[in-house]
Amino acid sequence: EKIKGVLTDIGFGLAARPEDADLIVFNTCAVREHAEQRVFGNVGALKGLKEANPKLLIAVSGCMAQQKEIVEKFKKHYPFVDIVFGVNGIDTLPDILCEKLATRKRVLRMPAERGEIIEDMPIRRDSTFRAWLPIMYGCDNFCSYCIVPYVRGRERSRASADILREFRQLVAEGYKDITLLGQNVNSYGKGLPEDITFAALLRMLDAVPGDYRIRFMTSHPKDATRELIDTIANSAHISRHLHLPVQSGSNSILAQMNRKYTVEDYLSLIAYAKRRMPEMTYSSDIIVGFPGETEEDFRTTYDFLEGLKPAFLHIFPFSERPGTPAVDMPGKVQPSVATRRVAELEELCGRLHGAFCAKAVGSEDTVLFESTLRGGMMFGYTGSYCRVKAPYDRTRINAICRVRFGAMDESHDLMGDILD
Ligand code: SAH
Ligand code: SF4
Repeated sequence: EKIKGVLTDIGFGLAARPEDADLIVFNTCAVREHAEQRVFGNVGALKGLKEANPKLLIAVSGCMAQQKEIVEKFKKHYPFVDIVFGVNGIDTLPDILCEKLATRKRVLRMPAERGEIIEDMPIRRDSTFRAWLPIMYGCDNFCSYCIVPYVRGRERSRASADILREFRQLVAEGYKDITLLGQNVNSYGKGLPEDITFAALLRMLDAVPGDYRIRFMTSHPKDATRELIDTIANSAHISRHLHLPVQSGSNSILAQMNRKYTVEDYLSLIAYAKRRMPEMTYSSDIIVGFPGETEEDFRTTYDFLEGLKPAFLHIFPFSERPGTPAVDMPGKVQPSVATRRVAELEELCGRLHGAFCAKAVGSEDTVLFESTLRGGMMFGYTGSYCRVKAPYDRTRINAICRVRFGAMDESHDLMGDILD
């Protein structure tokens, strides 16, 4: 959205198709190898377009462009890529384009760990009701499988006054679902001149009057505090849903992952949250097939999740990331074994999500209706991401409504009656 904002500011508009574009920018993710392979595939597929239209500019940005080896690969093997710039260079995109047009040479920027926070960058948001609001960047945790600390650098937080200003503006513009973003939002405030915690920031934002939901991503369980849970319990706007990635249900794997908490720590936090807010719901991320994960570790994770009953799970097969300690760890899990374990967890996840939504039948909750469906219907989501359908009513789109759930269909969608 920032890349679009910067480009809109200097006169670009959105093209409907790649064939109509003067400039194509890839914004990339480096967390898993699979995503990187897809980028190489998608960039490679543009070679013909570039040959047909030599004036077309192709640029690659994002976390992939934060890795020297990847920049080298684009340099050597993708001569039709004109521009490569990292995540810390978005504000300099107009200069990069000028340089490219003036020199007619490729501009391949090596990743800079400049790391300073640029405020007031133009932004062109995709949605009129859902907004992303970064509060901190980078990560200091160095989980042994993860590339983020290497591509995103050390943690730095935005000043609370800047966040509050943007937040107020979003609420004033009518945004209803605002997600605070950071690799570990719970360590928000570290290193700032002001004395502030994530919970204190949440209280500050929650005090802004209006009809909206606050969400946040991602919470590291080792830093999620009881103060945070109390803040949610006492808040008017914070969604009663906690996305708390556990990664594994086995303590020995958690230690190998360098996560710095145990399954017992995790469960004790959840138990506290359940006591404070019986209506609270949960979701999690799981990595399957981490080096050394035995069948017993996997069963422990499976049973742990079955007991936890999350609303949903994100399940990822372990992916080796260059430069991370996990690459050299013994006990590699066979791909066929990892695939089977992923399938087992996905089956469990579907079953748990179905049971979770089925439990909601007969109850009431708030739903943010966001879009229309065929057959005179519209859909939206509850705070804990259950999908809800109701008869289309134009006045309810982009509005948070109180709804009673009458039934659930075979795809786990709830049928809602609007109450107010
Ligand atoms: N900062 C967030 C996670 C960011 S990455 C946190 O700590 O929760 C999002 C998710 O991708 C992680 O939770 C993890 O489950 C997954 N992930 C990260 N590195 C991975 C890897 N090398 N292989 C597979 N999954 C990975
Ligand atoms: Fe990666 Fe999240 Fe761990 Fe940071 S806390 S290293 S982003 S998984």
